[in-house]
Amino acid sequence: MRAKFYLPTRVIAGPGCVKANAAALGALGSRAVVVTGKSSSKENGSLSDVEEALGSRGVAYAVYDGIGPNPGLEDCRGAARTIRAFDADFLVAIGGGSPLDAAKAAAILARNELSDDEAFSGNYPRGALPIAAVPTTAGTGSEVTQYAILTNDKAGTKSSIAWEGIFPAVAFLDARYLARLPRQVRINTALDALSHAAEGYLSLRADDWSRALAAEALRILGRALPKLALGESGSDLDEALLLAANLAGAVIAQTATTAVHAMGYSLTYRKGIDHGRANGLLLGAFLDYARGTAPEASQAVLRLTGFEDAAGFKALLDRLLGKRESLSAMELREFAAMASKTKHIANTAGAPDEATLAGLYAASLAVR
Ligand code: NAP
Ligand code: ZN
Repeated sequence: MRAKFYLPTRVIAGPGCVKANAAALGALGSRAVVVTGKSSSKENGSLSDVEEALGSRGVAYAVYDGIGPNPGLEDCRGAARTIRAFDADFLVAIGGGSPLDAAKAAAILARNELSDDEAFSGNYPRGALPIAAVPTTAGTGSEVTQYAILTNDKAGTKSSIAWEGIFPAVAFLDARYLARLPRQVRINTALDALSHAAEGYLSLRADDWSRALAAEALRILGRALPKLALGESGSDLDEALLLAANLAGAVIAQTATTAVHAMGYSLTYRKGIDHGRANGLLLGAFLDYARGTAPEASQAVLRLTGFEDAAGFKALLDRLLGKRESLSAMELREFAAMASKTKHIANTAGAPDEATLAGLYAASLAVR
């Protein structure tokens, strides 16, 4: 037996869970800033539920709705200025991974004066404000991780803040908020969750606890993804996806992510490919690679998702992904060099070198 499991987030799930558990919000303080995206939380009922819950506990609040996809430090500094001006003692983050991650970084920046480099350092002497998280996509699992992944123009990629002080104190999972997710967002985010579960299962940092959670996430996704590919939707499917994404988030909180995410960040930063889709594009080739470096674990990933062999798994990915993007030979070399220098590689069985990573890009995208 081997484990080093830590997950300090209270997870509350079910239809209506925000309003029914308003006390869990009230327990975090008396003044809150709600950090959210530009529009979806106003349309899917999550923002009004949070506002009602805060109001019912006498919590004064302000709403900061300026967070778009792939936020950078400047976006988080904007939220932090509002948090300071309002003198908030906690945050409620509502939305997909972008607002959740921005809120986590803002929770640090509101308490600490940090340069751009210091912001990624993991050293925050004045701590961070507590956070309640309400995910409205089923993908990132950010509601149960210690990561905030931000666009970093200085580094020319996406970079992570990884610090235990930004694990949300509480996460509310209500699949009703997902009902009107655009099909493409639902697919891309599900691919992100699949990638977290598969990479986590295969990670050199996997332990008995993280594997148990990853196995369940893979089982759920193995049943849900073929339905998504067929264009099915509905509350049962959304609940399944939200649970799988949450379990997979708990997995990467233990194992971190591996080569797939390392490679995906350049696809997002340089090519504008959505985060989940970027991982989905790379996952099939990565599983082929892992058959050589972690044969038993990669076979288990296939079996848990319901496949006898890699061909069926890759055919499902193809149906979900449709036409693949292309890369120039120069981009391929640059992206492989960049990924090879990331800390994710140390978590990846076989520690793939630059040439191996270039081969994985070439197997995953059309090279012009
Ligand atoms: P996202 O960028 O948060 O949201 C994508 C789009 O979906 C936005 O246009 C958003 O609109 C919309 N949306 C969100 N919820 C919706 C709903 N319920 N109904 C309709 N539309 C909705 O996408 P994401 O894939 O969830 O998050 C990606 C980010 O998370 C990336 O930055 C990635 O690096 C990061 N990430 C973090 C972790 C972690 O552990 N912290 C893990 C993986 C990925 P609005 O803007 O109007 O809300
Ligand atoms: Zn991810």
